[in-house]
Amino acid sequence: MFKFLLLAALALCSVSTQADGASDSATVVLTEGAGRLDISRHLTYYEDVSSSLNISDVIQRWPEIGSGQLPDEAYNFGFTDSAYWFHTRVENRSSPNNRWVLEGLYPIIDEMELFVVTEQGRFTRQISGDSVPFTMRPRDHHNINFELMLPPGDSADLYFRVKTSGAVQMRMLLWHSDVFAQADHQERFLLGLYNGLLVSMVIFNLLIFISFRDTNYLWYVSYILTYGTLQFTLNGLAFEHLWPELPWWNNRAVAFLIAAGMFCVLGFSRSFLALWENAPLLNRVFKAFMAFFVVAGAAALLSPEYGPVIRLNTFVAAVAVALVIAAGGVCLYRRFRPARYFMVAWTALLSGMLLYTLKTFGVVPANFVTEFGIQIGSAFEVILLSIALADRLRHMNLKTQRMQQEMNERLESRVAERTSELEQVNRQLEALSSTDGLTGVFNRRYFDTRLAEETARTRRQGPMALIMIDVDHFKAFNDDFGHLAGDACLRQLADMLTAIVRRETDIVTRYGGEEFAIILPYTDADGARHLAETLRSKVEGEMKFTWDGKAIPVTVSIGLATIPSGSRVEPDEAIAAADEALYSSKQAGRNRVTERQLASSGPKASGQALTELLAGRSGNE
Ligand code: GH3
Ligand code: MG
Ligand code: MG
Repeated sequence: MFKFLLLAALALCSVSTQADGASDSATVVLTEGAGRLDISRHLTYYEDVSSSLNISDVIQRWPEIGSGQLPDEAYNFGFTDSAYWFHTRVENRSSPNNRWVLEGLYPIIDEMELFVVTEQGRFTRQISGDSVPFTMRPRDHHNINFELMLPPGDSADLYFRVKTSGAVQMRMLLWHSDVFAQADHQERFLLGLYNGLLVSMVIFNLLIFISFRDTNYLWYVSYILTYGTLQFTLNGLAFEHLWPELPWWNNRAVAFLIAAGMFCVLGFSRSFLALWENAPLLNRVFKAFMAFFVVAGAAALLSPEYGPVIRLNTFVAAVAVALVIAAGGVCLYRRFRPARYFMVAWTALLSGMLLYTLKTFGVVPANFVTEFGIQIGSAFEVILLSIALADRLRHMNLKTQRMQQEMNERLESRVAERTSELEQVNRQLEALSSTDGLTGVFNRRYFDTRLAEETARTRRQGPMALIMIDVDHFKAFNDDFGHLAGDACLRQLADMLTAIVRRETDIVTRYGGEEFAIILPYTDADGARHLAETLRSKVEGEMKFTWDGKAIPVTVSIGLATIPSGSRVEPDEAIAAADEALYSSKQAGRNRVTERQLASSGPKASGQALTELLAGRSGNE
């Protein structure tokens, strides 16, 4: 297929409408209107297998060695090591023009010599081809070309000798030199348009790669670069413009660029179609082919023999192109969306090639579209692939977005779950850190915090009270019944206190040892007194602590501190007052309640009254 591409790439070369004014024989007749003649089918040939004949031998022996008949199409002998000779006779019967140009349409021939033999038997020699320095050409043109001086009435024999390591193709035009210049002018414009498209695509997509960092774009750019340079080389423009002094390289460039180009095509297709996901088996085949083309590229430059390399490269390239199309088909079949544009793009290129081939075989008429089929097809391919890349980027973005959204949702629900777990643990921890291990009521730490809060609140509004409870003769209790009994007693007492103190705002705490403290917010002196007395009497009368089957009487002494609304009382003062009251209860014989009122008539309270007065508020408020 690529061999065909090589051949087809020559679409640029010119229009192949049949020669006007030429008779169907080995003689080309130039008449008055002759401007452009295809002389390909007026050539006889001879294959010089040993490449040993010289021009004198050939002239002498042509009647016997020259092929008798003319070809139906232009000669194409494929790859060969032989030298080929071609002959035709040109007769200027009635054209007033003297100067003519011969143009070879297959520019990658290594060496082509032209011997013009006059009627007098004198001959001149010209040489052209891509192994011959560009400057040797009569005209600066990408195709092989020769000058021919043939005034009206003259005739000449033309002998061409072709020696090349690539295919021997012999398509030859004979031009009126002015007509040639005109056609060349137009063709250069079209080629400029085509190559300009390729260059702009390279720059544009390179910029996209730089901003998106999507390697697909890099593959695409390298594909256009290598493919474009291959086309440029195939139609002789590279030799004319890029490396006119390097025939050696020019000769090897085609094989090298085929390898490099195919490496990029495969790399691009593999990456674009995400073969490792969509067709893992094909992915491995692609990799093998890519490895082959790396070696083939090196061989194109290093191998002493060029012929076998170009032949092998061309053959494997044809297989690889088929592989790319097949991979696109497989991915399309597996519903990989981006494969659609990919296939459309390749179809465009293949259609262009097909049109050109059909034109070559005369199935469709030669016109602008069929003539430039390859260029038009590949231009469309390049543009469509660019669209395919954009579509793929969009497709992949959508996919990532969907995945990201799913992941976010999952993450969010996980976070919510964890947060509620954490909150629960936190609550447990908080409860644990504020309760007493033995009795289960609040601990001293919690007592301190709450007491500070409640005294602060009392300054603004509402009264409060603080109860301190101490078990009587508990030391003796422990001594008589043991610590375990003491602990059990404390637990039972704590349960009892909590049961009696029912208000939700009340806070029962273990102050330390066998002492309990109860904070009573919003409780006035009367209420607190009543509650303290209830506690004392219920412990004495209803607690009924038993140990080892023996009932042990338990009593408590209580100190009560009451704080009226609006008092400025520090927590320590409240504790000291309750403690003092408790001490008094002990002193007075235990099992009783003593009250201390932190009166608002104290120095602090009167200070507060003054403040309130100054603030313009009534003292009774
Ligand atoms: P008083 O009537 O004057 O209060 O006499 P008392 O023996 O109760 O004297 P005090 O209040 O000083 O006694 C404290 C005793 O309480 C010391 C210790 O034996 C006992 N005690 C303190 N904490 C615990 C505890 O967690 N478990 C037990 N079993 N006993 C404790
Ligand atoms: Mg005590
Ligand atoms: Mg005690």
